[in-house]
This record gives sequence, structure tokens and C-alpha cells, in this order.
Amino acid sequence: MPLTKGEIAALLKDEEHQQTLFDKADLVRKQYVGDEVHLRGLIEFSNICRNNCLYCGIRRGNAKACRYRMSEEEIIETARRAANLGFKTIVMQSGEDMYYDTNRMCRIIEAIKKFDVAVTLSIGERTYAEYKAFRTAGADRYLMRIETTDKELYHKLDPDMSWQHRYECLLAIKELGYELGSGIMVGLPEQSVESIAEDLLFLKDLGVDMAGIGPFIPHPETPLAKEKGGTLNLALRTMAVMRLLLPDINIPATTAMESLAPDGRLQALKAGANVVMPNVTDREYCKLYELYPNKICMNDTPAHCKSCIGLKILSIGRTIGSGQGGHQY
Ligand code: SAH
Repeated sequence: MPLTKGEIAALLKDEEHQQTLFDKADLVRKQYVGDEVHLRGLIEFSNICRNNCLYCGIRRGNAKACRYRMSEEEIIETARRAANLGFKTIVMQSGEDMYYDTNRMCRIIEAIKKFDVAVTLSIGERTYAEYKAFRTAGADRYLMRIETTDKELYHKLDPDMSWQHRYECLLAIKELGYELGSGIMVGLPEQSVESIAEDLLFLKDLGVDMAGIGPFIPHPETPLAKEKGGTLNLALRTMAVMRLLLPDINIPATTAMESLAPDGRLQALKAGANVVMPNVTDREYCKLYELYPNKICMNDTPAHCKSCIGLKILSIGRTIGSGQGGHQY
């Protein structure tokens, strides 16, 4: 649906009629991508990061973060178990940890591809040659949020990083034939709804296959500890408008939404989302991958999490996706 920046901003501001927006997004979701909810098994394999993003709990400058790095064998074993649980997509996420160089990443990707799953990478900015090598090794999708399209805000929040470079990485990923996922946080300090409207139009122009939208949640050990953070409702409205703009893409009910409300992901599934990413990381590591506080499911096993979210999905009349759930053109 074509919407102008002004129309998008008006929808984002309109708390009073948000249910109408959610119902519309739910209908569009049903028409374009159906009732299946695709589950992705998320492995958070390292919380070591060379970057120092002001919002992020695993930023380089957080000396209190207890750092870990999973071995190749541990990562592959975790993926094997997730595939046995029935996950058809494995998402590998980490800080920007260069220990996982081209050869090491390619070995891991090749091993995981043997489990007959789609592989999504979410490991940040790399060179074109690396993206190409990972793709050749079998990686199917890549997830990297632009975070915000307000360049001034981006450079304040992500010191030493370049918005333009991140954008060029996204273009390279797309050109190499990955399914491209990107997205933003809402509720960042100084971020206006007009700026979020521009973000949504940016994601539309980029032609993303997947868009992840989550509320910013302040982490106590970061410079943004005292900020307000985003609300669930604004994140849901943003996600619902994304569904109207790009009716057939994959949109996750993000974990950060569930950290703000116990049924946050279900609310998202009823307002345009069609994907959920349960965490399959060993809990000893998962606890340490703390981007923001109040992370959910910390005391539950991956098997428990999968059946728990599965039952919730069925309870709202939806089904669990049986295939790899890529973007259908
Ligand atoms: N290093 C990878 C993965 C980053 S972590 C990369 O650069 O893509 C995944 C996402 O978590 C980030 O892109 C960011 O949007 C989100 N995130 C980080 N800190 C957060 C916070 N405090 N609240 C909510 N989301 C956060």
C-alpha cells in the first residue's frame, strides 16, 4: 500500500485508533502470507564485540559483561539439536567478533547446512569478500538492522561506525542474492515519529525480505541507562505500518516486545507479524548475551520454549510453518 511520510507519521501517532491499524495489518498479513507462523532457532554464539553502540549491553565498553565465545563444535551441536526439534531455519547471531574469520564461519555454515535448514547470519558488518564466501558456503539469509535512518542520531549512538558503510553492506548482501533482513529500533533518544516514518520508507525502498522492529530497552550498564526507551504500542504500530507498506515480507514478533509485556509476541502476531525466533542457545550462554535487560525465557530449555510458543500460536488460530518460510515473491 502506498503511504506518504505524512500519512505514516499520522498512523504512528494515533494511539486512539491503533486497534483499527492492527486489524488492518492482521488482514493484510492473512491475505499475503497466510496463517503460518515461521519459527527460527536463534543461536547467540558470541557476545564479544568490537563496536561500542551506546544502547547495547554487549558494547565493547561494558566491562561488567562476562564475555563468551562458543566453539565451532558447540555451535554446530546447538544447531543440530535445534534441527532435531523441528526448526527449519537457524539464525546465527553475535557481536562483531572477528575470531570467527572467513574460514571458521564457512566451516560452521557448511556443517549446519547438512541439517537441511535455511541459515541466516546476523553478525554485523563484514567485507564484500566475506559476505560472498559465506553465501558460497551456503548461507541463505542475512539480518542486519539499519537501526535508524537519521544519520546524525546514528553517528551519536554508534560511535566509530558509518551509516553509509552499513547501508553499503546491506546493498552488497542483497546483490549477492541473500534474502535480506533489516530493521530498526523505536523509542531511541531524540527519535521522532517522522524519523521512524522515514525509516519505514527506507526499508521499503531497499526492498527488504524481512523487517525486524523492536522497542529500544535501556540497559543499566550503558550510557543510555537513564533513557525512557520505546513503548510496546509504538513498536506494534510501527510494525503494523510496515506490514501495510510491504504486505508480503516476513515480519518477526520480536523478543524485545515480549520483554515489555508477557504477551508482547502474541500481540505482534495479531498486528501483522508472521515469524517468531525462539532462542535455542544453551542457557549458560544465553544469559550472558544481554543486549537489554529482562530477556525472556532465561530459565526454560529450548524444547520448552518451542512448545510454549507453539501452543500460544495455535491458541490464536494460527499454524506452525512447515517449510523454511522464506520470502515468497
Ligand atoms: N552485531 C550484529 C547483531 C546485533 S544485536 C549486528 O550488528 O547486526 C541485534 C539487534 O539488537 C541490534 O541490531 C539492535 O537493533 C538490537 N538491540 C541492541 N541493543 C538493544 C537494546 N538496548 N534494546 C533493544 N534492542 C537492542
